[in-house]
Amino acid sequence: MPENSDNKIVFISGASRGIGAAIAVNLAAAGYDIWLNYRSSADHAQAVKAEIEACGRSCTLLPFDVTDEQAATEMLEPLLIQNVPFAVVHNAGITRDTLLPMMQRAEWDAVIDVHLNSFYILGRIFSRYMLSRRKGRIITIASLSGEIGQAGQVNYSAAKAGLIGASKALARELGKRNILVNAVSPGLIETEMITDLPLDKMLPLIPLGRVGTKKEVAGVVRFLLSEDASYITGQVISVNGGMHM
Ligand code: NDP
Repeated sequence: MPENSDNKIVFISGASRGIGAAIAVNLAAAGYDIWLNYRSSADHAQAVKAEIEACGRSCTLLPFDVTDEQAATEMLEPLLIQNVPFAVVHNAGITRDTLLPMMQRAEWDAVIDVHLNSFYILGRIFSRYMLSRRKGRIITIASLSGEIGQAGQVNYSAAKAGLIGASKALARELGKRNILVNAVSPGLIETEMITDLPLDKMLPLIPLGRVGTKKEVAGVVRFLLSEDASYITGQVISVNGGMHM
């Protein structure tokens, strides 16, 4: 028996790979149908869709760039007229790491756009429909960098800190409508995003002595969507092996 037998839909941005894909499959296993956004990795997205369908759930592929308000609106509005997701997971992300004196304006703008401006774009589209249902969950995937700041990631740290502030503000706006908004803040998680990082220097900083798995992030998202999390809103849940406490 799935955790959620009333056919709830979850929209996840950037779910063709990495943490987003793990969240999608984990939630499908818990009984959710998935609206799966990605930008360009069509083959990866098809593979995730097959995994979701193997769980007996449906997967609607929604390829669009989360920074493109017109594309997001054109793809989502016709679906939202038919069905309103129970939850939205803002997960799509990129890094353009470099020290600030070397950072190009395009590297600053790209990171702010994908993380923070997409929260505005998708948040506005979805929250208008979710308000009328008077229940729902919104999760932002933040980052340890947004909590403590990270050298070489001024753009990324700013975007993630902004997301944490935006999530808390939205939690206050939507609480009376029974829509809970929380941030999940991973530390180092085994995805393509960390392949260029100096892990030998970073592992000693992690009390658990290892990077985290995508499943360990997905499990927290699954909990935050469950009935057991019905009194949790406006929080930042860190999943970082103790790297920051
Ligand atoms: P990956 O690089 O593995 O995957 C990124 C995903 O985001 C892909 O599905 C990609 O789609 C999608 N994406 C990127 N840009 C866009 C866009 N403009 N529009 C739509 N989709 C887009 O990243 P992770 O899984 O590692 O990261 C997921 C989230 O977790 C991010 O928000 C990241 O900042 C955060 N995070 C990750 C950590 C880590 O250690 N890995 C630590 C802390 C936070 P496509 O394949 O089509 O390009």
